[in-house]
Amino acid sequence: MALKALDVLKYLPKKTGCKECGCTTCLAFAMKVAQKQASINECAFVSDEAKAALEGASAPPIKLVTIGDGDSKLQIGNETVMFRHEETFYHPPGIAVRVSDDLDAEALAARVAAIGALKFVRVGAEIRVDVVAVDNVSGDAGRFKAAVEAASKLDLPMVLIAEGASQMAAALEVCAEKKPLIHAARPDNWEEFAKLAKEKGCPLAVKAPDLEALAELMAKIKAAGVEDMVLDVTADRLTATLQNLTTVRRLALKKGARELGYPCMAFAAGDDAFEEVAQAATYVAKYAGIVITNLYQPEQILPILTVRTNIYTDPRKPIQVEPTLHEVGTPNPQSPVLITTNFSLTYYSVEGEVEASRVPAYIGVIDTEGTSVLTAFASDKLTSEGVTAFLKSDALKDKVSHKKVIIPGYVAAMSGAVEDDSGWEVIVGPREASGIPKFLKTMWS
Ligand code: SF4
Repeated sequence: MALKALDVLKYLPKKTGCKECGCTTCLAFAMKVAQKQASINECAFVSDEAKAALEGASAPPIKLVTIGDGDSKLQIGNETVMFRHEETFYHPPGIAVRVSDDLDAEALAARVAAIGALKFVRVGAEIRVDVVAVDNVSGDAGRFKAAVEAASKLDLPMVLIAEGASQMAAALEVCAEKKPLIHAARPDNWEEFAKLAKEKGCPLAVKAPDLEALAELMAKIKAAGVEDMVLDVTADRLTATLQNLTTVRRLALKKGARELGYPCMAFAAGDDAFEEVAQAATYVAKYAGIVITNLYQPEQILPILTVRTNIYTDPRKPIQVEPTLHEVGTPNPQSPVLITTNFSLTYYSVEGEVEASRVPAYIGVIDTEGTSVLTAFASDKLTSEGVTAFLKSDALKDKVSHKKVIIPGYVAAMSGAVEDDSGWEVIVGPREASGIPKFLKTMWS
C-alpha cells in the first residue's frame, strides 16, 4: 500500500515552524515524502527508530526478488494490483523447466540442450524458457552437483531443489556466484537452509503445510537475516494452489501482511501434458512469480509462454511496430504494396501470410496508435487521408514502378477517396490476413 502523508506525519517530531527541511510545516514535508519528492533524512529531528519504521512502512507490499545474475537474471515480485486492468503487471514470471539429477550423463546433456532450444519468435519478439530447475531426485550430493554443473552451461537463472542441506551445499559449490534460488526451507530444516542462503547471498524458497505456518516460518527466516525469499504455495490440487496464490496476493496488497509480502512460486503437474500446460498457464495468470514444469517439448511450452506474454503486456500500451515501409522477402519494382496498421498482432498476421505466399512485397504500415484495422477505421485513425499521405511520402520513392496499392477488405469504403487524392489505383484485398496468400498468387500475378 502506498504511504500516505498522514502515515509519514506520525513519525515526525512536529517542530512545525523550524523549516529546516525547506517546508513551511511538517505536514507539507510529510506530503513531499509521501509523494517521493523528499527523503525523510531531510528532517534532522527524526529518530533512527522512526526512520527504520518509516522505511518498513514505505517498502513495496510485495518484495522484488532477483534470481540469477548478469543479463539473464530474473526479477519477480513488486506487483501492485490484483487485476491487470487496474494498472498493469510488471514482472513476468519465470518459466522453469525441471531437470532430474537421476538422468544419465547423455540424457542429461540432451535435456539441457532441449531446454536451451526452447525459444520462439512471437509478434516480432523472442520469448523463451528463462529458468532451469535442477531436482535432486537421486538424493545423492555428487549427482546433484554434476547435474547443476551441466545445467549451469545454459547461462539461465537456476532453481536448486533438494531436501538435504548437504546436497544443497554441494551444488552451491559450483554455482553460488550465479545466485540460484535455493528450494526449499521447511519447518524441519529451515535453519540449515537459511544459513546457506545467508552465507551465499542467494534467494531462498520457503515451504510449509499451510499459509499460516508459512507466514510464521517466513518471519523466523527473516529474523535470521535472510531478506530475499519466495513462497512455494504449491498444494496437491490446482484449485488449492490457485487459492493460495490468490490469498497471498490479496493479503499482501490489501491487508499489508508483511510476512507474506514476497513473490510466490508453484509447481505444475498433471496426469498428462495437456493438464500440466493448463495448470502452468493458470499459475502464470494468477499470480506466480515462478512456474516450474516438467514439460520440455516446444509445443507444450509455447502455449505457456504465450499466456505469459499476453498477461504481462501493458494494457495501456498496445504493442506496436514502426509505422514505415516494411519489406517481406526481396521485393522489386513490380512487387505489390499492401497497407495495414501498426498494431503488432495485425502487422505480424499480415507479414506472416505475405511470407507464406512466397510473393515478395512491401507493407506500408500506417500509424494508428496500435489499433487493429477495424478499430482504427471506426475511430478515424485509419483514414483515406493517412493512406494517401503515406503513398505520397518518400517511403515508396524509387521502390516500385507501378501505382497500385492493396488495402484491407474491411476498409473498402475508402478506396474511392484514396484513388481520387493519391492518383494510385486501389485494389481491395481480403478482409482477413489468412486470405492474403491466395489473393497475391491469383490477383496480383
Ligand atoms: Fe517539521 Fe522536521 Fe521540517 Fe522541522 S525540519 S518543519 S520538524 S519536518
